[in-house]
Amino acid sequence: MNGELVGNGNPVLKLDPAEYICPDHHIDLTSQVRDVLDEDERPPLAYPGRHRPGAVARPSPFEVLVTCPGPAGGAQSHQLACTGTWTR
Ligand SMILES: [Zn+2]
Repeated sequence: MNGELVGNGNPVLKLDPAEYICPDHHIDLTSQVRDVLDEDERPPLAYPGRHRPGAVARPSPFEVLVTCPGPAGGAQSHQLACTGTWTR
């Protein structure tokens, strides 16, 4: 097995499940889920010392709404709730 590429110094976000696919259209929505989680994750400025290096990362449950663009050529986008856990 070849080693896989691991970011460019960015923290690796681990998702469980690792992929989110629209069950109706079989479209991969994983990147949207990651985008939402990335934005949510900004540490509050009021707690600068909160994220301590060396702290054990534990999975946090999440539920995010993403937009599936729908079938190619169509204009029927719809929202989908994705749930799981994430670790970073
Ligand atoms: Zn869909």
